[in-house]
Amino acid sequence: MQENKRKRILITGAAGFLGSHLCDRFIDEGFHVIGMDNLVTGDLQNIEHLFHLPNFEFYHHDVSKFVHVPGELHYILHFASPASPIDYLKIPIQTLKVGSLGTHNLLGLAKSKKARILVASTSEVYGDPLVSPQDEEYWGNVNPVGPRGVYDEAKRFQEAMTMAYHNFHGLETRIARIFNTFGPRMRLQDGRALPTFIAQALQGHDLTVYGDGTQTRSFIFVSDQVEGICKLLFSDYHLPVNIGNPEEMNLLDAAKEIIQLTESTSKIIFQPLPIDDPKQRRPDIRRAKEILQWEPKVSRRDGLLETIAYYKTLFNKTENK
Ligand code: NAD
Ligand code: UDP
Repeated sequence: MQENKRKRILITGAAGFLGSHLCDRFIDEGFHVIGMDNLVTGDLQNIEHLFHLPNFEFYHHDVSKFVHVPGELHYILHFASPASPIDYLKIPIQTLKVGSLGTHNLLGLAKSKKARILVASTSEVYGDPLVSPQDEEYWGNVNPVGPRGVYDEAKRFQEAMTMAYHNFHGLETRIARIFNTFGPRMRLQDGRALPTFIAQALQGHDLTVYGDGTQTRSFIFVSDQVEGICKLLFSDYHLPVNIGNPEEMNLLDAAKEIIQLTESTSKIIFQPLPIDDPKQRRPDIRRAKEILQWEPKVSRRDGLLETIAYYKTLFNKTENK
């Protein structure tokens, strides 16, 4: 803790879901945290509790434009990017730019500051995978010109660029392939399955399952994700590492579980499956277990109960206004 006092870390996407939890974590560890965000999908409320702290600074900035941070930097976490399909379909070009130009700017900054950088990649680099579970050696099955291509290809470019800076400039780089993460601070309107289902269940609305609900995902709770990212940052491993929970489930069961946990009377309705929606997704986490001595600890049920409690407080706040 004491030795971290001098360490300065830049976190992009700081006002978003994962970025804000990472800010909290590194503040707790005693770091000087510099948050950066252009608020395109983020919310300052996620980090407003940090503004009074002397070891927290915030820059309102679009990282796809040149990034300047005065003073020393020891670490960079590049988490800026829309992450929900409805967000990146709304702003496809900004999504491509933040994964490509934004990543280039941050790699350049890391090089000039001699900082170690970890980039937030995604299970979407595997696209609609033809193998299951997905290990890091799998090259993926991505449609570059489909609607999701703007996100998937930006992240694939991000990985390629990050590896090039490692190989060509000797930069200390880390690549986290993040699988579906959930928890408090995901936006209710963010369009991702779990916040959508919880909001619908709490309001007594129908839960909208896309397709027939047999497509699978593997959901990891945010505290486990943050722990995995920290372990990867402080490891000496530069190749991609999957950070996710191998417990796979289909979306129809996810909707049913949320109805049960919220004790809701909502019904389930079926809507068309979005184009190129991956049919299955499950991480092989042997690499993370072996190299980071990490694996998820929080059960989905406990994570969901904590998330539901968070959304209930949000609804109570708006009702009392
Ligand atoms: P989020 O939308 O909650 O947060 C992203 C943040 O980045 C927002 O605050 C947004 O305003 C900011 N941002 C976007 N473009 C920017 C730009 N050009 N300049 C500055 N700030 C910008 O999403 P999240 O779920 O917290 O995801 C964070 C990162 O993790 C993303 O890079 C995403 O690709 C990656 N990821 C997340 C998940 C997940 O399940 N949450 C899964 C895989 C990968
Ligand atoms: N989904 C759904 N209903 C919703 C939102 C999403 O059935 O209201 C499905 C979506 O089609 C996908 C899965 O839930 O199959 C996970 O979607 P999400 O947007 O959370 O993340 P993705 O893994 O697709 O990026």
